[in-house]
Amino acid sequence: MTRHAPPQRRFDSLAAVKDSPARRDGQKQRVDLEEVFGAHTFSLASMQARLPKPAYKALLKTISDHTPLDPTVADAVAVAMKDWAIEHGATHFTHWFQPLTGLTAEKHDSFLAPTGDGRAIAEFSGAELVQGEPDASSFPSGGLRATFEARGYTAWDPTSPAFLMEGPGGAYLCIPTAFASWTGDALDQKTPLLRSIQALNTQTLRALKLFDTPARRVRATLGPEQEFFLIDEEFAYRRPDLVVAGRTLFGAKPPRGQEMDDHYFGSIPERILDCMNDVELELYRLGVPLKTRHNEVAPGQYEMAPIYEDANTAADHQQLTMSTLRRVARRYGLLCLLHEKPFAGVNGSGKHLNWSFGTESQNLLEPGDNPHDNMQFLFFCSAVLRAVDRHQDLLRVSIAHAGNDHRLGANEAPPSIISVFLGDQLTDVFEQIEEAGSAKSSKAGGLLGLGVDALPKLPRHAGDRNRTSPFAFTGNKFEFRALGSSQSISFPATVLNTIVAEAIDEMVTDLESRMAGGDDLGQALRGLLADEAKNFKRIIFNGDGYSDEWVEEAERRGLLNLRSTLDALPSLVGSKNADLFEKYQVLSRRELESRHEIMVEQYFMTINIEGETAADMARTMILPAATRYLSELLLCADRADEVGVKVKGVENTARAVAESIEGLVDALDHLVAQNAELGGDEVHSKAEHMQENIIPAMAAVRTRVDELEKMVPDDLWPIPTYRDMLFVK
Ligand code: ADP
Ligand code: MG
Repeated sequence: MTRHAPPQRRFDSLAAVKDSPARRDGQKQRVDLEEVFGAHTFSLASMQARLPKPAYKALLKTISDHTPLDPTVADAVAVAMKDWAIEHGATHFTHWFQPLTGLTAEKHDSFLAPTGDGRAIAEFSGAELVQGEPDASSFPSGGLRATFEARGYTAWDPTSPAFLMEGPGGAYLCIPTAFASWTGDALDQKTPLLRSIQALNTQTLRALKLFDTPARRVRATLGPEQEFFLIDEEFAYRRPDLVVAGRTLFGAKPPRGQEMDDHYFGSIPERILDCMNDVELELYRLGVPLKTRHNEVAPGQYEMAPIYEDANTAADHQQLTMSTLRRVARRYGLLCLLHEKPFAGVNGSGKHLNWSFGTESQNLLEPGDNPHDNMQFLFFCSAVLRAVDRHQDLLRVSIAHAGNDHRLGANEAPPSIISVFLGDQLTDVFEQIEEAGSAKSSKAGGLLGLGVDALPKLPRHAGDRNRTSPFAFTGNKFEFRALGSSQSISFPATVLNTIVAEAIDEMVTDLESRMAGGDDLGQALRGLLADEAKNFKRIIFNGDGYSDEWVEEAERRGLLNLRSTLDALPSLVGSKNADLFEKYQVLSRRELESRHEIMVEQYFMTINIEGETAADMARTMILPAATRYLSELLLCADRADEVGVKVKGVENTARAVAESIEGLVDALDHLVAQNAELGGDEVHSKAEHMQENIIPAMAAVRTRVDELEKMVPDDLWPIPTYRDMLFVK
């Protein structure tokens, strides 16, 4: 019997890496950042240059004060926008929106309008700018829209700038829009986010009036840090699991993992750097203010972060960042993996959502040098703490999805228990307030001397960082660290804005009643803050969030520990949360229920696809490779016997391989049966079936596959290994 040809030639891919496009090009483009930034957005400056003065003023007012726009202004804006887009090479326009898939959607229309005499002109009206009508039937609606009623509407969001996307076939104009059903129910991420921004604005202005702080508008601000992997596509495309599920369903841990910590903040490999430069350049053109980039903890893992912006723009820009990363990576022969856990045993990817709120001129979470004296800061900071304590469940739900289940509680991401890291200084201030009704001092940070006269003295922060907290105060903002790398930031931001709006509302009402009872503002505030501090005390935890003791301690404190997505999801539609969203007009009960339905469905679909893919790969790739190897071993043993050569090792190996194959077949049969079973007809029971039966069945198959990977010869192993994927850059 002759040896089979190897099913793949892994080392071809290495050749491809050496010849990557970045290496061929060789030369770097020099760019003028100031000229490039925002060049592909229909910015305020381009509007001012092109619009009649009254129209520009009206639009500006809409953007800054969120007042409704006059339809005649829309016509003028449409003409200016079209001219600008066409001058930049655009042929089409699209209403760009964010359906509940977590991705973005667009349907292109040409600017072309036939004139009836065989010619055509470019046309674009205010009506086309303001409203679109994509077929909504293929987007998730969670039962909001019966299939016969497929109508959906997009509505222009004038507060986020329109932009140009460049495809190989030419450019097109993207108009950020909200997306709703014919019945007026929100079917997207943007609408509730905008509503929550409005609620936060209203309540905060009420509070600021009490403090006599002048403000026209309050805005929430977001700075999302994005982690991701870049993997050579030659490898990635040979792995159906990466292509279909975005993560590896099999793969033994490489001998050299991240133990050496030599990747984190190491110098960025050249091909990767070229790719990131290109990503940044495209995003700069779109007006996305990217600021930092570095290697992350795991090999092959990186991070990018922008400078913060108002919440609505930041959320649009975050979606653009994810899609641009995916798109540009391909030019460099790379695949960008945004999944939370692409590789088992290797650090996963998250997204840190930095969140604050402020007026035109003031960040309301800036404590200043003497926080104990800064009553306005203490008031708003207390509002956040009260909100987080009261709505731990909602924050947990806002980050709940199948991908994130691999990280939360595992030893790399913050645990599923929501708590707040406040740092020594503020914790001390709130303790003083709780005990004495007011605080007399703030612990200072001081200067950090490095013992070398020539080096500058660095101002030391009043508290060290804590990486294990899911929700940390970091100087003048809170950092919600439990988001998954692949998810939209809109819903977590919507939740934060809404729960803080509620806390401010209730605290202002409390202050007002204390003042009606005769207190002056100072007395009323001291009374309120002392009461609040007592109540939210249990949510503050400055220790190690990864420790087992914390789990016990949190239970003693009565904090929630909603471990998995399915544990967390039911609370979304509980009456506390439904009432909250309804009261602040962020989501109606129907809208909330539909979102819940969609999240359950997405959980089911994600794991269902993984289960099917794992079974397919095991059956058609792994099992054949293993039996091929077994037959080689047996053939060798037979021959050896014939000629009287002793090969005990071969027989032992054959036995071990045969045993693993048997184990794999059993596990695989079980997985196939569970896949076929599906868990009933109803989406909730299907989702439960995934959690209870499919996940363990996949794990059992994986154990056997990973065991075989360590035995089967490299040239027979049909899929690239972790070693290939993580260390070739
Ligand atoms: P680190 O997490 O290392 O402390 P930075 O201080 O640079 O990093 O901030 C991380 C992110 O937080 C950045 O995107 C930054 O723009 C953002 N950020 C800073 N201030 C605010 C704010 N007031 N509101 C929202 N995000 C902010
Ligand atoms: Mg951070």
